[in-house]
Order: sequence, then C-alpha cells, then structure tokens
Amino acid sequence: MKSIYLDYAATTPVDPQVVKKMQPYFSDYFGNPSEIHKWGLKASEGIKNARTQISKALNCNPSEITFTSCATESINLAHKGLIEAVRNQDKKIIPHIITTQIEHKAVLETCKHLEKLNWAKVTYLPVDEFGLISINDLGKAITKDTVLVSIMFVNNEVGSIQPIAEIGKLLKTKYPKIFFHADATQALPYFDCDVNKLNIDLLSFTGHKIYAPKGIGALFIKSGTPIIRQQDGGSQENNLRAGTESVPLIVGLGQATELIIKNRAKESSRLKTLQKNLISKLTEIPGIKLTGHPEKRAPHIASFIVKDVEGESMMLLLSDLGIAVSTGSACNSQVLSSSHVLDAMGIAAEDSHGSLRLSLGKDTTKEDIEYTIKSIKKVVTTLRKMSPDLTGIEF
Ligand code: PLP
Repeated sequence: MKSIYLDYAATTPVDPQVVKKMQPYFSDYFGNPSEIHKWGLKASEGIKNARTQISKALNCNPSEITFTSCATESINLAHKGLIEAVRNQDKKIIPHIITTQIEHKAVLETCKHLEKLNWAKVTYLPVDEFGLISINDLGKAITKDTVLVSIMFVNNEVGSIQPIAEIGKLLKTKYPKIFFHADATQALPYFDCDVNKLNIDLLSFTGHKIYAPKGIGALFIKSGTPIIRQQDGGSQENNLRAGTESVPLIVGLGQATELIIKNRAKESSRLKTLQKNLISKLTEIPGIKLTGHPEKRAPHIASFIVKDVEGESMMLLLSDLGIAVSTGSACNSQVLSSSHVLDAMGIAAEDSHGSLRLSLGKDTTKEDIEYTIKSIKKVVTTLRKMSPDLTGIEF
C-alpha cells in the first residue's frame, strides 16, 4: 500500500543530517554544559554553535536566543515573562495585550490565564473570511496600556499569512514602547524571519515542525525586552530558563534551522507548485472550497471545506488508503467541537466539520499529490453516497 504523509504542519520527521549531528552528543559529548572540565566544555560548545546557527537565521545576536522545550513553552515565557516584568514596574496598571482570534491555543490559553489572574486585559482581533486581520483594527485596538501585540505569522489550520512586516513597521514607527511577539512556528521553514527587518521583539518556534526532534524550541528575545523567567532554578540560558540543557536536542535544532534556511527558497517554490495543483484540482470537485487566502498563504498548507462530509470520516478513509491528512488543527482532532479558526472566519459549524488540511513537506512528490487527488475524489464520492465501504475502490 502507498504511504503518503501529508501532515507536515502537525509534525515532521527528523532529517537524517540532523540525527547525524546530534548523535555524538548522546554518549561521547555527554557532559553537563555548566561544568568547565573538557566534557562540559565540549557540550557547551555544541550549544554555542547551535545558538549561532539560529541567530544567523533570525539575524540577531546569539545571546538573544533562549532554548525551551517547544513553541508552547516559548510562547508562555514570552507572554507571562513580559507581563510579569511590566507589572513589576507599575502594579497599578493592568497591561493590555492585543492578539487574534485565530492564534494557536498556546497563545489563546496563555492570554486567558493572564486575564483570569487579572494580570492583563486582552483584545482578540477578528479576522476576515480569509483569516486575515486588518491593520486598521489593530491600530484602533491600541490603548495607552498596550504593552504587547502577539500575532501569528502563518496560521496552522488554514495557512494564511498575517501582515507581519506591516505590523512591525506600525509598532516601531508609531508605538515604539509596545513589544511585538510573532509565533513563527509554521513560518520559519518558508519565510524570511529576519527579526530586524520585521521589527519583532519576541519570536517563538519549535523543532518538530522544521525536521528537528520534538522536545526542543526557542524564543528570540530582543536585547532590552523585560522578561521574568517562568521556570526557577539554576542560571542556565542567561537566567531565563532554569534546568540542565538538552544538548543533543539543542544541537539538532541548530542544524535543522541551518538546513531549512539553506533550502528555503527552492523548497518554497517547489511546494507552491504542488500546492497550486492540489488546490486547483480539488476545488474542481463540487462542494469543495478552499479555506484561507488564495494567494497570501504558506506553500505547505492546503485546507478545504468539503460539504456534506465529516472531516474525521475522510481522514480515516484516506488513512486506510495510506494517506495521512488532518481535519483542522492536530491539537483539535481529538475534540469534536468546531475549529475556533474556522468559526472566526465565519464558516458555519456544519461546514467546518468537513474541514480537511493537507500539509506538504520535503518528501512530498508530484505523484503523491496526483494519487491524493484521485483518492480524495473517490473517498468524497463514497462518503456522499453514505457508504463507508471502500473495499471496491481500486487505483
Ligand atoms: N504555534 C503554532 C502556529 C503551531 O502550529 C503549533 C503546533 O501545532 C504551536 C504553536 C505549538 O507547538 P508545540 O506543540 O511544539 O509547542
């Protein structure tokens, strides 16, 4: 049977070159990087090198990179750490955060937590039918107490790209005291994340979406940004994240970041071509509609609403045919409630239950896409006939 993985937005396999680079740090260079003997020094050299690789990708100083365990942790540290630091400066003010209704739960739940503690007030900006915020709405939401604007670069469910450069420019020129956090988890492999050019103060990402292992992430913190660490203990990571560093994972993240940047332009344009074909062929099928913006979208995410079909049923039948896709966000796929992203885009709940996300990656080929298109056509026809029996289908 075919085996076609089209769920790269959920997670990616680890690149063999990344595994190779990590390998010696498990048993040969296993020292604690806080120690100054040669074992420790070898380990801290690996961390230093990874920090440099990442700082080159983001065009920042290596000291501005903090290693964490994932994007969720980076996001928590950025939001809670900044708000705590700001509150320490003046307890009378309740800091104001502006974010969007379509952020990943890592941002939404962190903001809700801060609201519950009464440590922050939060504005959740609406999006249009394509999942895009308006700069005008952002400008109108800013108050004298706004300290943080947190906007995702690429949405993980529909792939829409927010106007990050415009937001950065607006804040830098008109509101220089407001800090700008960008969740770049889905963006780093395909878009320039130069924090200087984009005027970003805080940027989060995770290893397992860029062909590094799970369990490692990073946060860029622009020098001078006030942050109180959220995990207390030793003085690792410039006193911002206590706990002995996972040297092999950090080395892997550094290597994966370097590789992704090296191949970014070529890989983006290759995936764009595959994505175009996928979108044009699937939207020819009656009752299948693209979600997200037709042009302002990341090259790896193709997302759809399939009328009169349950997303879960499509996912399972496609899995039986050897194809991995997802319905909405992977984090949501265990839950039957409709997607908060599609809700915010004004898509009716009965339609969003038929959501389908195909996300492409480095092993996706033209043949995979052709086979997937044929399979989706057959699966949708079968489900619409209310017959879950696929035994008669041949390819
Ligand atoms: N932000 C976005 C846009 C994501 O897609 C994800 C994962 O799906 C996350 C944050 C959280 O990443 P992690 O699970 O590595 O913490």
